[in-house]
Amino acid sequence: MFLAFAEFTKAQMNGDSSNAETLAPISEAVTRSYTVFGATSLQETALRTQIRLMHPEILPLRIFFVPHWKYLDDARIFHLHVPTGYSSLMFTHLPSRTIFIDDDRYLGENWLAYWIAHELGHLATNSVKEDAAERAAREFRHLLKDGMRRSQ
Ligand SMILES: [Zn+2]
Repeated sequence: MFLAFAEFTKAQMNGDSSNAETLAPISEAVTRSYTVFGATSLQETALRTQIRLMHPEILPLRIFFVPHWKYLDDARIFHLHVPTGYSSLMFTHLPSRTIFIDDDRYLGENWLAYWIAHELGHLATNSVKEDAAERAAREFRHLLKDGMRRSQ
């Protein structure tokens, strides 16, 4: 598992020698920020605004937008099983607080908000259970809606 993970990060971020360290668990004091990889600037701005308005207690550490083939590859590397009934558009690797987004299925900002709330739900509950994540996600979606309304 560790080897697979190390290889993955090397491939993912080509040549950034700080990789191994950035993927190690990071103390809570520095977790108020996160890094977004592979997004367009519009996607990143939308994502950061949405997450800010959702006020999640547990933030991801990094979010990757990846092409579909890479998404499938990452899911395999992380030994993730996507349950039937939930289309696989994003997934969260809880131990590293990393979210993967299938960029080839990206359908705009509303799509992003809906599904990122679900992934934040996994982080909030620290659970891989879909129903637990969805319960938390509903709260995030409400907060987002309120936040958007206030900022209009
Ligand atoms: Zn899920």
